[in-house]
Amino acid sequence: MFKKILIANRGEIALRIQRACREMGIQAVVVYSEADRDAKYVKLADEAVCIGPAPSQKSYLHMPAIISAAEVTDAEAIHPGYGFLSENADFAERVEKSGFAFIGPRPESIRLMGDKVSAKDAMVKAGVPTVPGSVGELPDDPKEIIRMGRETGYPVIIKAAGGGGGRGMRVVHAEAALLHAVETTKAEAGAAFNNPAVYMEKYLQNPRHIEIQVLADQHGHAVWLGERDCSMQRRHQKIIEEAPAPGIPRKVIEKIGERCAAACRKINYRGAGTFEFLYENGEFFFIEMNTRVQVEHPVTELVTGIDIVQQQIRIAAGEELPFTQKQITQRGHAIECRINAEDPFKFTPSPGRITMWHPPGGPGVRVDSHAYSNYFVPSNYDSMIGKIIVHADTRDQALARMRSALSEMLVEGIQTNIPLHRQLMSDAAFVEGGTSIHYLEGWLAARK
Ligand code: ADP
Repeated sequence: MFKKILIANRGEIALRIQRACREMGIQAVVVYSEADRDAKYVKLADEAVCIGPAPSQKSYLHMPAIISAAEVTDAEAIHPGYGFLSENADFAERVEKSGFAFIGPRPESIRLMGDKVSAKDAMVKAGVPTVPGSVGELPDDPKEIIRMGRETGYPVIIKAAGGGGGRGMRVVHAEAALLHAVETTKAEAGAAFNNPAVYMEKYLQNPRHIEIQVLADQHGHAVWLGERDCSMQRRHQKIIEEAPAPGIPRKVIEKIGERCAAACRKINYRGAGTFEFLYENGEFFFIEMNTRVQVEHPVTELVTGIDIVQQQIRIAAGEELPFTQKQITQRGHAIECRINAEDPFKFTPSPGRITMWHPPGGPGVRVDSHAYSNYFVPSNYDSMIGKIIVHADTRDQALARMRSALSEMLVEGIQTNIPLHRQLMSDAAFVEGGTSIHYLEGWLAARK
């Protein structure tokens, strides 16, 4: 096992990884930008290295600074967390070439899945069902594009091959708008992701977002750890996640889970990963794979009892998975609410000083957050400042537990989306379970 790991991230996930290291008796080095000097995990760190000024480009995305921090501290491995460099194949390659273990998949896998066109292609070959649409990247020929639109059937969605974080997508309802939408999405994708390639998918009207968590070791074993329902989204960004997904027959989920584990074996995948699907009318359609730990990983940890971050570290160190598929079971129900520093209904960011931070507690309540009273939320990064995750025997009990946790949670000094979560936890359709990815946007529009 590694003696020392460098955590190349910030915020709650830096603290989460630091906790995993501590439990495993591994020293953790944290890196931080000048804006994160006062973060909790920096104060708690065995070792901390400042890697540059606040802008991510000059700190958390600056590969040479991170690699030299690992060199000067004698770390053996680098955990990239999520976001930032976590899905950058060049970074993974540089980490390995510099003699460190990368706690994540092989660079080839990251590259394959980082391009959504090649990812879909690999899934088709591995027997995983995908959303119907263009086979591969859209060509330049306008006639061909029009033909593909007719074949796919409107509405369609134009998506950037290199897109991520809910950006680089455009819905097209009629042929008249198609060519213009393709041009605009291409231009945006070129500027934002350095890759102008786009593809076309059927735009599903009422799907749910269901994803499968996988773990694969370096000895040819791969398992799936159940599913998560992440349909509560705004602008393609998740805000509530739960496991298991309410109302979907186990047999249907088992079939897709097995396919995902088999696909991992087929592409020689390593580490933790997530296969994301849209689920509509009893069918699963692959949309993309995330080759990293996800924000919502705790709901899976609570229902399976498996520590995903510790498993990532063990896999990177060359250990075999300590369980077989048969030994993995899901117990009870877990729900996660992402706490964002923003106006709860207008969604404008609300950085600044937290004058009072009182997290909830009690049985089955977990809070993953780097925030504390007097912590200053910098404006430079993502607005998520923590997560409340609850676990109970049944979904109804988990809902009651989340309502109670949200009522205990106190944050002063900045605005958060806690009031939104409080309303959603008592919303009849959410309580019923199985709302689609468009539900929240409709709900917000009706509220006005
Ligand atoms: P990203 O990498 O930016 O997260 P995804 O491909 O995972 O992009 O899509 C993010 C979200 O966008 C999905 O969860 C869903 O809400 C919506 N979406 C993507 N593709 C489709 C589609 N074909 N039909 C309807 N909604 C879609």
